Amino acid sequence: ADSEAPAIDSEALATLHRVFGFGAFRGEQQAVIEHVVAGGDALVLMPTGGGKSLCYQIPALVRPGTGVVVSPLIALMQDQVDALRALGVRAGFMNSTQGFDERRTVEAEFLAGELDLLYLAPERLRLDATLNLLSRGKISVFAIDEAHCVAQWGHDFRPDYLSLSLLGERWPDVPRIALTATATRATHQEITERLNLPTARHFVASFDRPNIQYRIVPKADPKKQLLAFLREEHTGDAGIVYCLSRNSVERTAEFLTANGIAAVPYHAGLDAAVRAAHQSRFLREEGLVVVATIAFGMGIDKPDVRFVAHLDLPKSIEGYYQETGRAGRDGLPSTAWMAYGLNDVIQQRKLIQSGEGDEAFRRRAAAHLDAMLALCETAQCRRGQLLAYFGQDPEPVACGNCDTCLTPPETWDGTVAAQKALSTVVRLQRERGQKFGAVQIIDILLGKRTAKVIQFDHDQLSVFGIGQDLTEGEWRGVIRQLLAQGLLAVEGEYGTLTLTEASGSVLRREREVPLRKEPKKPAAARSRSGS
Ligand code: ADP
Ligand code: ZN
Repeated sequence: ADSEAPAIDSEALATLHRVFGFGAFRGEQQAVIEHVVAGGDALVLMPTGGGKSLCYQIPALVRPGTGVVVSPLIALMQDQVDALRALGVRAGFMNSTQGFDERRTVEAEFLAGELDLLYLAPERLRLDATLNLLSRGKISVFAIDEAHCVAQWGHDFRPDYLSLSLLGERWPDVPRIALTATATRATHQEITERLNLPTARHFVASFDRPNIQYRIVPKADPKKQLLAFLREEHTGDAGIVYCLSRNSVERTAEFLTANGIAAVPYHAGLDAAVRAAHQSRFLREEGLVVVATIAFGMGIDKPDVRFVAHLDLPKSIEGYYQETGRAGRDGLPSTAWMAYGLNDVIQQRKLIQSGEGDEAFRRRAAAHLDAMLALCETAQCRRGQLLAYFGQDPEPVACGNCDTCLTPPETWDGTVAAQKALSTVVRLQRERGQKFGAVQIIDILLGKRTAKVIQFDHDQLSVFGIGQDLTEGEWRGVIRQLLAQGLLAVEGEYGTLTLTEASGSVLRREREVPLRKEPKKPAAARSRSGS
C-alpha cells in the first residue's frame, strides 16, 4: 500500500475492501468520499448505476455518528437496509410501512449510537417529532438521494423535498451530500438553490454509457417489432419495456407471454402486492421482462438488465436517459431500443396542450419534447446528441455504437413535399375554414376518395392528389418530421394540424427542408385502404 496516502484515504479504502468487498473506487467516488469525510458539502451527478450509494455509505461508516439518508423510494428501503445488514452494516429505516414497535426499536438504536445508516422518507423527516429525535442523536452526514425530486420540473417532483433546505440551518456542522442522475445545468442549479447548498462542491461524472447501444426505429406495428427485436437479439434476457398507458402495458405483457416470452406488467393501477411481487420476481429471476409505465424503475438496482425498450416516446431526454440507463449497469453490452412514429408526436403534443400547468410550464414541456424529438429525428450520432444535451462534449464525435453510426440514415430534400403538405393545411384552413388531422391530410395528398374525403368534398380541392409521388408511409414520415421540426403544430383534442410561424418560410420558398428517408419496410407493412 502507498504509505504516503492520507489516513482518510486508507480508511475509506479499507472500508471499501472490508465491508463491500470491492477492489477499487470507481470514477469520482474517491474524490467525493474524501471531500465529504472531511466535512464538505457535495452535489454528486452520476448516471444511474454509476455507484452513488457508496459516496454516502462510506462517509457514514468512516465518520462518527449515523448517516441519515433521505430517499423517496419507500418501497426499496427494506431491500436496501437488508442488503446493508447482510454486509454487516448497522442500518435501519423509518417510513410509513412500519409498525409502531419496529419504529421504536430503530429510534432507540439511533439514540444509542448503534446505527451506521438511517434511511428516511422526506415526508417523515420534516415532522417535528423526527427532527427532535435527530437532534438528540449524533449525525455523521446527511445524504439526499434522488435530489432532482426537489426540482419543480419533471415527473419526480416531491414537495416534501423543499423542506430539506432546513437541514443546513439546523445542523450547520454536518456535511450534506445531494445525489442525482439527472444532469442538466438547470437542474443542478435548482438543486443547489432549493436545498440551500451554495458552497457544495460539484462532482460530475461522465454521462456516457458506452456499453449501451442506442437505437430508434420507425414505428409500424410496435408489439410485433418488439417481439422480433427480442427474438433476434435478446432471447432469455432480462429487460424492461416502457409503455405510456396502463392499458398498453397490460396488452403488451399479454402479447409477449402469448408468444413465449416470460413477461409481467407493472403500473400504478395494479395492486400494491402484485406490483411488489412482479418487482421482486424481476430482481430475483433470470430473463424476466417487465412491461411497465414510468412508475417502474427508480432505484431498481439490477445489474444485468440487457435491454430497455420504449414503445412510446418519453416526454424528455432526461426521462429517456434515466429509463435507458437502467440497462447494462454491469458494463456488458446492452440495447436501448425505441419504436417511434407520427402518432407519438401528435399524442405528446396534445398531452402538453390539454395538460395542466400554466403557459410557462407548457412552454418548458414543449421545449423538453422538442429536444426529445430532435434526438429521434437526427441523422447524426445519437450518443453525441445525448451527451451534448447534458452539456458534455462527445468524444469521439461518432460513437460507432448507435443506429445512426452503424447505418447512417439517408437524407433527401423534402422541400417540395413539405410545401405540398403545408399548402394542403393552408387550403383547408383558408378556403374551407377547416382543420383536420394527419390521416385526412395524407388521404387528400394521395388523392384517396375515402368516405370522409367525399363527405367534405375534399376531392374538389386543388391540392387533391398532388402527393402521389410518395407512399402513405413516406407522407407519415414527412408530417412527423415537420411536426418534430416545428413546421407544423397540433391543436385541440382531435390533434388537428395547423401552421406555425415557421411554416411561412417554407411556403414562401425561403428555406429548404432536409428530411430523413423513411425505411421502405415499415411503410410497405402498413395495410392500405381505398385505392
Ligand atoms: P446508482 O445509485 O448510482 O445508480 P449504485 O450505487 O446502486 O448506483 O451502484 C451500482 C452498482 O455498482 C451496484 O451494484 C454497486 O454495488 C456497484 N458498485 C458501486 N461502486 C462500485 C465499486 N467501486 N466497485 C465495484 N462495484 C461497485
Ligand atoms: Zn453513434
